Amino acid sequence: MLSLKQRTVKQAIKLSGIGLHSGKTLHLNIIPASENFGIQFCRVDLPQKPMIPAHANQIHSTDLNTTIAVSADPSSPRVATIEHLMAAFAGLEIDNVLVEINGPEIPVMDGSAAPFVEAILDVGITEQNAKRSYYIVKDTFELRQADKWIRIEPARYTSYEMAIDFRSQVIGQQSLRVDWTSVEALESIFLSRTFCHVNDVNAMRKAGLALGGSLENAIVVSDSEVMNPEGLRFDDEFVRHKMLDCIGDLTLMGAPLIGKITAYKSGHGLHAAFMKALWQIRLEKLTLVEPERPRENNPPISIAHLA
Ligand SMILES: [Zn+2]
Repeated sequence: MLSLKQRTVKQAIKLSGIGLHSGKTLHLNIIPASENFGIQFCRVDLPQKPMIPAHANQIHSTDLNTTIAVSADPSSPRVATIEHLMAAFAGLEIDNVLVEINGPEIPVMDGSAAPFVEAILDVGITEQNAKRSYYIVKDTFELRQADKWIRIEPARYTSYEMAIDFRSQVIGQQSLRVDWTSVEALESIFLSRTFCHVNDVNAMRKAGLALGGSLENAIVVSDSEVMNPEGLRFDDEFVRHKMLDCIGDLTLMGAPLIGKITAYKSGHGLHAAFMKALWQIRLEKLTLVEPERPRENNPPISIAHLA
């Protein structure tokens, strides 16, 4: 873990899928990019083909998903539901890519990050010459909003520990710690799908949202059961997906965070506020440095059991 060099995809990747909210088919191209380009989205369906850097400063809304936009103007071009794709980039240590999308949201695929991870592993990853930068946390920092909180503490490597507490008996209380010492450690996180309560589905449909949502791309629960015929991929798939969202959102820092991250009942809004707070204190709390340790053996990950 911890690449010393920046990385991009070996070849362009084409993916298509349904947009969760619009219900329309969207086409996504992930294109290799030069060193220090970062991750940037391009709305190729709009006349000026506006670019949106994948950065916390561009966050436009965090209602049900993370949406970034060109500017704070309400009519500014945007891209929604970027978090699972961002988590795939984070987990595979991809620093530089151009993501072309022909609509206002990233396709939801199966509700997890696994289709993105598989597509990237299929074409392979290229190591570039420029050095990779990391944020190393020097002091503990915590942000609370009501009963929700997220904290980062100094550590030699990155770990995530998360807990959730839902009223639905199917979800209930779940907690999980993952030490991010290898890509393999994230395999079950990549595979975990987004979820919602059946009552929320009905409310969203009435509001004209989640038009593309189905049992094909989300776990739907009632108070007492999982409604998907195939059941869960993991008993604690819910907290695993919350961790996926957190990893994807925190990638919008612009460089990987090294530290022990702990969160309780966190979501996109808290993640966004946390990053903004980290930026404000960054001179005291964070330093952009080279990683201490070189990449260890990097065996390919296998997510064959998805098929
Ligand atoms: Zn999610």
